[in-house]
Amino acid sequence: MQDDLKFYQLSGKINVMGPALGILFGTLAALPLSFVYAYAVRYIPFIYLNFLISLGYAFATCVAYTIGEKMGHNRSRFFSFLGTLVMTTIALYLAWSAFFFVLFQHKISYFQLVTDPKTVWLLIEKIIETGWFTLGSTKETVSGTFYMVLLIIEALGYLWFFVATCVLDKASVYCEECSKWVDAVGMPSLISCKLENAMTQTATMGTIPWIDQLELTKDFPFIVFSMTHCSQCNRLSTLTATKVEMITKQKGKETESEKKETKLFQNLLVNNKTRESILNKLQELEQIEIEKEKAMLENFENRQKPESDQA
Ligand SMILES: [Zn+2]
Repeated sequence: MQDDLKFYQLSGKINVMGPALGILFGTLAALPLSFVYAYAVRYIPFIYLNFLISLGYAFATCVAYTIGEKMGHNRSRFFSFLGTLVMTTIALYLAWSAFFFVLFQHKISYFQLVTDPKTVWLLIEKIIETGWFTLGSTKETVSGTFYMVLLIIEALGYLWFFVATCVLDKASVYCEECSKWVDAVGMPSLISCKLENAMTQTATMGTIPWIDQLELTKDFPFIVFSMTHCSQCNRLSTLTATKVEMITKQKGKETESEKKETKLFQNLLVNNKTRESILNKLQELEQIEIEKEKAMLENFENRQKPESDQA
């Protein structure tokens, strides 16, 4: 199984079109949404709701960026990171431009704001000085150093969110031969955790000697597989195993359950023979389960019959 001795890694090939399309798509999404954000921040007095709208603005921009970047075939995560920095700056700038346009009740033209960073910067300095809103029951407006610190925290929050959401995921798979992204397909079979240690070893050894020992389960914890396969060239396939468990936490008097996912190994390169034997094994196991259930149901029905005859 020599093909199994490696894990897939992105080639790191740079394509300028990636970040370029990403920034274009992201900007097209951010332009209208920045107005939603601005009106919400200006007129909705609930901070929590504002936070959600602000998060939605960042999230939608990131989704658009990611779509654009993948269309541009960029496989360099560092380049993706640089594109993300530009995207964050644009998103923040558009948000501020729309906000000032709304705050000054359209007295400054939006076009002027959006094309003149200097004006926007001066307005930011000015608004830090004077403030424009109050917090809680106090009558004093939030301004000065405290407001500046809040704004810096907000900007850093945006940056963190964008880097975490936009930057090309290292688990992405791209077929260099066919020049296309290959999506991971999750498999429905719930696999017993008996092989957890063996699969953890797979992460270091890159071999899978456990296919014949696979067993299914019906409950937590379990392991699920996901596969990528390039159907065009039929020469690139990867396998990922994830352990899913329920963690119960004691929070005061209440217990809280939380789903926890752990990658046992990721994007192991598999040859077609291995890929097929895994698929066949899982299918075989699922078939056995179906037969078992059928037999149980028949058994149950047979036991019910005589009783209903008596009645
Ligand atoms: Zn291919």
